[in-house]
Amino acid sequence: MISIKDKKRQPSVIIIGAGMTGMLMLIKLREMGVRDVTVLEKKASVGGTWRENTYPGVACDIPAHMYTYSFEPNPEWSHRFARGDEIQDYFERVAHKYGLYSAIRFNAQVTGSYYDASTCRWKVSTADGESLEADFLISATGILHHPALPDIKGRETFQGASFHTAEWDHSVELKGKRIGVIGTGSTACQAIPELVKLGAKVSVFQRTPQWIVNVPDRDYTEQHKDNCRRNPGLMHRLRRLYTMSVEQIFSKAVTGHKLQHAFVSLMCKLNLWRSVKDPELRAKLTPDYKVGCKRLIANGTFYPAIQQANAELVTEGIQQIEEAGVRTGDGRLHELDVLVFSTGFHPFNFMRPMAMQGKNGADINDVWADKVQAYRSLFIPDFPNFFLMLGPNTPIGNFSVIAMSEVQCHYVLQCIAKWCDQDFDEIDAKPDALQAFNAYLKQGMSKTVWVGGCNSWYLDKDGDPAMWPYTWKQWVKEMSEPQWADFHLSRKHDNQVGKAA
Ligand code: NAP
Repeated sequence: MISIKDKKRQPSVIIIGAGMTGMLMLIKLREMGVRDVTVLEKKASVGGTWRENTYPGVACDIPAHMYTYSFEPNPEWSHRFARGDEIQDYFERVAHKYGLYSAIRFNAQVTGSYYDASTCRWKVSTADGESLEADFLISATGILHHPALPDIKGRETFQGASFHTAEWDHSVELKGKRIGVIGTGSTACQAIPELVKLGAKVSVFQRTPQWIVNVPDRDYTEQHKDNCRRNPGLMHRLRRLYTMSVEQIFSKAVTGHKLQHAFVSLMCKLNLWRSVKDPELRAKLTPDYKVGCKRLIANGTFYPAIQQANAELVTEGIQQIEEAGVRTGDGRLHELDVLVFSTGFHPFNFMRPMAMQGKNGADINDVWADKVQAYRSLFIPDFPNFFLMLGPNTPIGNFSVIAMSEVQCHYVLQCIAKWCDQDFDEIDAKPDALQAFNAYLKQGMSKTVWVGGCNSWYLDKDGDPAMWPYTWKQWVKEMSEPQWADFHLSRKHDNQVGKAA
């Protein structure tokens, strides 16, 4: 374990966001001996994505024992795939257990941040006019937290209730209503089966079909939970087992391993073939791109739901939204009481729209104008002493982001520990290190299933994957320790001399 208890100085740290990653950073910084940590959270509670996403059917399609902090296994999971509310409960319990609330300021939305090179410190301002300063700034805002609404003509004219899945309006009655859902991604596939149970009619507007793998869910019995309570080693073994299976089968399937890809493709095709008997409906649900190009959906309830008498899969493109509903390209008006946008997120915003100025006046919007990129997904040149958790190219398809954050956390702690040794005042990734990292990513990308095959949030505007194009094992290896030669490690004094010159 990294400790700064005997080191020469103590840092101050500001973390933006009290979701899974912000909480992790706070726990681990404190464990390391850092006393001055403040977390600024824009909303009124912890939990991030699990606080925000409360749509019917919300769950995690990554096995629960894998989707936990490694140091805080949870014997209470009710199912193999945990439901959203119990994940939120888990984070709230962890926050209490580790006494995190004392360091978190709720309803504190960060609006601006500015790096002062003369002091090597970040100055941060919040929406309610507060100003704070720290030696390090950590963005823990997550990847998918800016809901994307589609640019469909007439969207504002709809007279019924309408909302994005990440902003579910629980005051809207669904029972007996005519419900429309735009989108058929991971979120929609979880929500639609619940809506079909409630609505008089559910119209699902599908633009592109998705590949779906059915990994059966399972109830965890009281006996299983009791075994886990009495024997935490069991949970660690389950975690290892799931991590290995996801790595060996799913991660490898998308990163150029042909055998695994053939196996997962077969699983998806068999799932569709066995679940949907009507050839016309099956044809509509059959994608024309490679399995895994879009995020693979793990779900066992969507296919049965879409075949219910009160469900309809609409594949004629949407022409416009009108007061009474959605009109499709064939001229038909689908009359609706409720319209749900399950249309995903803006994945390249990260901590923005917060304003951010680094060294020499570098503005994050200019620096990222052509490409959103970061050295080892964490560092943006000219933004010293700033760590972007779960930055570009962090996600590994269908893997646990908690595990990825833990690896990044260890990396960040090593950087901060070196600062505590007074080895530098400022750590800044070299631009050529970023270029070399990008070249390394490109090399891996060429072998993945993401390239050139489909339209998905996995790809940026140039068609380059926003994902990590190698395996989990490779990620752990690459991120095990900083390559110090890739950084400018400088002293406050150097900046002051530079300024004077
Ligand atoms: P998504 O995968 O980005 O899917 C968005 C859906 O909206 C797609 O079907 C897309 O169609 C459709 N769409 C977007 N704009 C449209 C338009 N103008 N007209 C018609 N259709 C439109 O979003 P998501 O389902 O919210 O999932 C996002 C990510 O959240 C996932 O990839 C995953 O990482 C995460 N997630 C995870 C879980 C979990 O259990 N772990 C659950 C839910 C979500 P096209 O395919 O044609 O673009």
